[in-house]
Amino acid sequence: MIESVGENVTNLKEGDIVMPLYLGECKECPNCKSGKSNLCHKYHLTFSGLMLDDTPRMSIHGGQVLYHSFSCSTWSEYTVINANYVTKVDPQKIPLQHASLLCCGFTTGYGATWREVHVEKGSTVAVLGLGAVGLGAIEGARSQGASKIIGVDINESKRGKGELFGMTDFINPKESKTSVSEMIKDVDEGLGVDYVFECTGIPSMLNEVIEASKLGIGTIVVIGAGHGLTREFNLVPLLCG
Ligand SMILES: [Zn+2]
Repeated sequence: MIESVGENVTNLKEGDIVMPLYLGECKECPNCKSGKSNLCHKYHLTFSGLMLDDTPRMSIHGGQVLYHSFSCSTWSEYTVINANYVTKVDPQKIPLQHASLLCCGFTTGYGATWREVHVEKGSTVAVLGLGAVGLGAIEGARSQGASKIIGVDINESKRGKGELFGMTDFINPKESKTSVSEMIKDVDEGLGVDYVFECTGIPSMLNEVIEASKLGIGTIVVIGAGHGLTREFNLVPLLCG
């Protein structure tokens, strides 16, 4: 709920209910107009911990600066957010207990399976990293009718979670010295899978997902938002799908 607004904010007022987003949309830049991406050039994801003008807005007793986590900092009772990084919610239309969309996270993985690529019925799919993004990709692949969905994670507890969302096979790379790509191929008759969703952001996994995809017709989708991935390969991951 908006507690107060700055003097130049005209589209929001005290008492409005909003959802914080860590990507804004200017609706004018090439990406906003493209219809293909929401990675706005103007209201982009920030890693500095500061507002877009490189100044802080939050502090604790004694004036020590509190930095934002990305653009929102929602793990707190109060936060300061650029007005372009929220979207209004009408509590008359959406019960607020249903308005938490686990964004960005589940929605990113889920949307990638039918907005970035179209996982066809009967496809084979591998998902690396079973956090909220990966579990979303599993659920998306399931709802698209994938016949085999292989989840990969070094955390054994993700096996049960993946199965809840529709994962058919689980690989824990710690259980074998074989490469992740070989393990995926072993589950899928040696040919590799039709779609691989990389949700870890670990640079070395990029080679693995290429190796794990089916020769000639396999498609890889890079979602993991790791700093290392963007630095080493100059890739901008999907983020909010
Ligand atoms: Zn834009």
